[in-house]
Amino acid sequence: MSMEKRELTCIRCPMGCQITVTLEDGQVKDITGNTCPRGAEYAANEVTHPVRTVTSTAKVIGGELAVVPVKTKTDVPKEMMMEVMKAIAGIEAKAPVKIGDVLLEDAAGTGAAIVAARDVAAVQ
Ligand code: SF4
Repeated sequence: MSMEKRELTCIRCPMGCQITVTLEDGQVKDITGNTCPRGAEYAANEVTHPVRTVTSTAKVIGGELAVVPVKTKTDVPKEMMMEVMKAIAGIEAKAPVKIGDVLLEDAAGTGAAIVAARDVAAVQ
């Protein structure tokens, strides 16, 4: 039997509670330090399968701006963040771009779409 303690900072709200998760053979046994249930849920997910929203910018062709801020529509596994960033670097969106437009269907095989986070008008 192997016991392990992991220290995390909850990122679900600005309080940033320090949470300690006790794992026994890779299973969550105990969670302390969270002020609310969201912290316990965050900590349990974080130690078993950490995920993140990825935000970045993508190239725009023929737009009033050269780049548009983008983000993953759904969270992706933390270990895939670099691959997702590379996939975003390969995007060349044609202006006009509307907020919420899907610029890439499936980033790096994660199933997460890359969506525009603002409008970029076409150059007249
Ligand atoms: S545990 Fe609750 S109160 Fe503490 S940072 Fe997380 S969400 Fe905020």
